[in-house]
Amino acid sequence: MINNIQLTKIIQKISTTLQENKEFLTELDNVIGDGDHGINLARGFKEVDVKLPTLAGGDVGNIIKSVGMTLVSKVGGASGPLYGTAFMKAGAVAAGEQTLSAERFIQMLEAAIEGIQMRGKAVRGEKTMLDALIPAYITLKNVYGESDDIKYALERAIVSAKEGVEYTKTIIATKGRASYLGERSIGHQDPGATSALLILEAIHKSL
Ligand code: ADP
Ligand code: MG
Repeated sequence: MINNIQLTKIIQKISTTLQENKEFLTELDNVIGDGDHGINLARGFKEVDVKLPTLAGGDVGNIIKSVGMTLVSKVGGASGPLYGTAFMKAGAVAAGEQTLSAERFIQMLEAAIEGIQMRGKAVRGEKTMLDALIPAYITLKNVYGESDDIKYALERAIVSAKEGVEYTKTIIATKGRASYLGERSIGHQDPGATSALLILEAIHKSL
């Protein structure tokens, strides 16, 4: 069980991780996009850092939803609305709750993926953040079902997300800016899949 204080720490960890990887994500986006992915996320989460103290006392669903609303309103590019929707949908799953259970966390990841797909109309295999998130979700759900150990399940989910990031190197982008490159997008890892992996790793580290 995670309470709202622990949740705030997890969000702070996501934020620092993305700030630390700002250059790295931007370099990846330089190759197949417009070089702003790291800048976009760093800017959005800086704003989240500012908002977080005012949210800290609220229920866990509201804290996560507010992160999403901040990202939607402050981040440009495709990733702002996509990650923003993901956090808003995840927050809605835990609306009014004071603590977050492992089961709820898994449902949140599912809702986040549904939100991204609703907004971006992408499926797995189009070289997007979904190529990290969907395999991670499937592994998380299965391994938690067998082990009842969320930390271990998340560890295994991260391995699946890493495989998903590697897989993005082998495929053509058919959504977002990278799709303008067509076949030339092959050989390069997707920035959004990479940031999704970083977010999952940040959550795991702060558990
Ligand atoms: P922009 O492409 O507008 O500059 P960013 O650089 O911040 O926005 O984000 C790019 C990332 O967004 C891509 O690497 C990809 O993972 C993700 N992305 C783009 N379009 C979609 C989509 N339709 N569905 C899911 N993810 C997408
Ligand atoms: Mg970009």
